Parts: sequence; C-alpha cells; structure tokens
Amino acid sequence: MDDDILGFNESKDADSPLNIPINDVVTENLAGLHQHWMNEYLMSRDKHLSEVANKLHADFLSDQENIRKELMKQFTEELLTTKKNLEVQYMATLKHELLELRRRHTIEISEAKKSQWCNVCLKESIFYCCWNTTYCSTECQHKHWILHRLSCRRGNNRAASKNNNDDIKCIQIIPVHRDALDISSDEPN
Ligand SMILES: [Zn+2]
Ligand SMILES: [Zn+2]
Repeated sequence: MDDDILGFNESKDADSPLNIPINDVVTENLAGLHQHWMNEYLMSRDKHLSEVANKLHADFLSDQENIRKELMKQFTEELLTTKKNLEVQYMATLKHELLELRRRHTIEISEAKKSQWCNVCLKESIFYCCWNTTYCSTECQHKHWILHRLSCRRGNNRAASKNNNDDIKCIQIIPVHRDALDISSDEPN
C-alpha cells in the first residue's frame, strides 16, 4: 500500500489541492479515537471488575452459608447422638440403682424380720421369753412381768402366775443371738 494514500506523509507537490497538513488532523483524530477507546476500555474494565468482585463476594457469602449449614447439621447430629448416648447411659444407671435399692431393701427387710425389739423400751432384744415377747435386759422383763405373766405362753408358769402370786419370780428368759431371734416358727397354734 502506498504510504501516501492516507496522507501520512507530506505531499511532494506543493501546488496540489491535497497539499494540506493532513498529518495533524489524522494524528488529532487518532488521538481522540485513542482517548475514546481508552475511556471505553477503562469503563468496561471497571464494570467487569465490579461485576467479578460482586460475583466473588456473592460466592463467598454463599460458601459461608453452606459451611454454616453443614456445621449446624453436624452439630445437631452430634448433639442428638450425645443425647441418645446419655439417655442410654442414664437408663442403665437408673436400672442399676433400682436393682441396688431393691437388693438393699430386701436385706433390710430380712434384717428387720430377724430383729425384735424389747417389749418395754423398744431397744433391740437379746432375751426371749415366749412368742412375740422379748427384752433387751432382765430389768425390762421384771418391769413387764406383772402384765406379761397373765399371757405368758411358757407352759406351767402362766398357770402359776394367774394364781395371784404377785411375788412369783419371773421365768428364765433365754439369751439369743440376733440371728436366732426369728421366732416366727414359735407362733401359737
Ligand atoms: Zn428394754
Ligand atoms: Zn413369756
């Protein structure tokens, strides 16, 4: 292409009507065009940068929300698992304690059945007279005798006692070990 056709070079013919300083005009237009394109480019770049920034920010927020939801889901699952485990553990402990309570209750009932209390002072008895009549000491037996002699179930002594002898001696009471105090087999016929 001829370099001169666009008037980039000065005309060689001074008399030609085309002999105008076209370089300046073209240069000026090109500069304007360049500036225009540059402005458009900058605006377009800013616009795209802004869009990209907004999209990245939205993605970031979305990711954060997803992470939060995922963490909440895991936390809830762990909470439910822990709750379930605790309930199982609690029920096992409760069952164990209940069995232990029943066992101790049975032992206490058994001990209570074996024990008997003094007819006078309600201390634990160590002497046995007859059915349902025990004492902690001979002193208590003596205090009780004036009444008990009327109902004592120890054979001949009852009959003798009923014969108005207030000074009749107390019958011999029998020392017993605690384990031997279960007198249920001695109930009256
Ligand atoms: Zn007593
Ligand atoms: Zn008696």
